[in-house]
Amino acid sequence: MPTDTHCLVASAPFRPLRVLSTLLLFTVSATAGFAAAPLLPVVTLNTVLTEIAREVGGDDVRVTGLLQPGVDPHGFEPTPADIRATTQAEVIFASGLHLETYLENIVANAGPAHRLVLVGDALPRLLRLSAEHASHHHPTPAGGPEKCAGETDPHWWHSIDNVIFATDLVRAEFTRLRPAQADHFARNAEAYRQRLLALKVWADQEITQLPPSRRLLFTSHDAFGYLARDYGFTVYAIHGLSTDGEPNAKHIAGLIDLIRAKKVKAIFAESSVNPRLITQLVAETGVRLGGTLYADGLGAANSPAATYEALVRHNLSTITKALK
Ligand SMILES: [Zn+2]
Repeated sequence: MPTDTHCLVASAPFRPLRVLSTLLLFTVSATAGFAAAPLLPVVTLNTVLTEIAREVGGDDVRVTGLLQPGVDPHGFEPTPADIRATTQAEVIFASGLHLETYLENIVANAGPAHRLVLVGDALPRLLRLSAEHASHHHPTPAGGPEKCAGETDPHWWHSIDNVIFATDLVRAEFTRLRPAQADHFARNAEAYRQRLLALKVWADQEITQLPPSRRLLFTSHDAFGYLARDYGFTVYAIHGLSTDGEPNAKHIAGLIDLIRAKKVKAIFAESSVNPRLITQLVAETGVRLGGTLYADGLGAANSPAATYEALVRHNLSTITKALK
């Protein structure tokens, strides 16, 4: 089964990375041999981390984001040019939590002196899928993505608190590598943190429009666990934590039953997932399509989710407008 394959990919072949994850900050070798560069070369593997690194680093860093906005990170494979970009990096920020299935390739080809920071692995209060969660979120336990119980949800940026934590992590890394610029990084990080705190205030207010009984989020893949935890939603997803694989007919039939039984007002497509199955649910149940959410990171520059703040505002206001 493709979904089973995903589970295996997420656990078995990457045991070395689990060890690496526990170290959090993995120094491949000493930093000897690097002359002090005018700009700190940084590589990011996550679009939200690209924004954080640019905000915190300002004009003291040169950030190369390998994952372009709008690209599905689950299916991403770095090109030879991407691999070459990592050879100069002094620090590489990854989503972590096994989202980057190509990480071993990056590490094997990275420069002689770099630090790999698995940001998600460093976060407090991670969301691990229990069997109870899995059966709750996936109504037909036989053969669907629910078999991935026990995995940790890697979509940590859907909690603003996690992004605040990640910002401080990036600041600490930059400061360690360029101590002379510590004050600059601290000022930039604080300014960004204040914007995130203001965004939290807006989100708390926005969500009050939805009574708890309406907080049912039917969407393409199980990417909104952290949003669900922060704002009291229950998520029902076609795919599991990854967008790969194909759900079986029984799982889809279970979702159709649930949409009818719970009299759901709207369900949601996702910007980086083929809408075919969401369209099928709409056609079979008559439920409204509530809009398109940005699940796997920032959208392109001309999209409604070009920045993290825009992503949060777009997702939450799309959900509240459709469900209230
Ligand atoms: Zn995802």
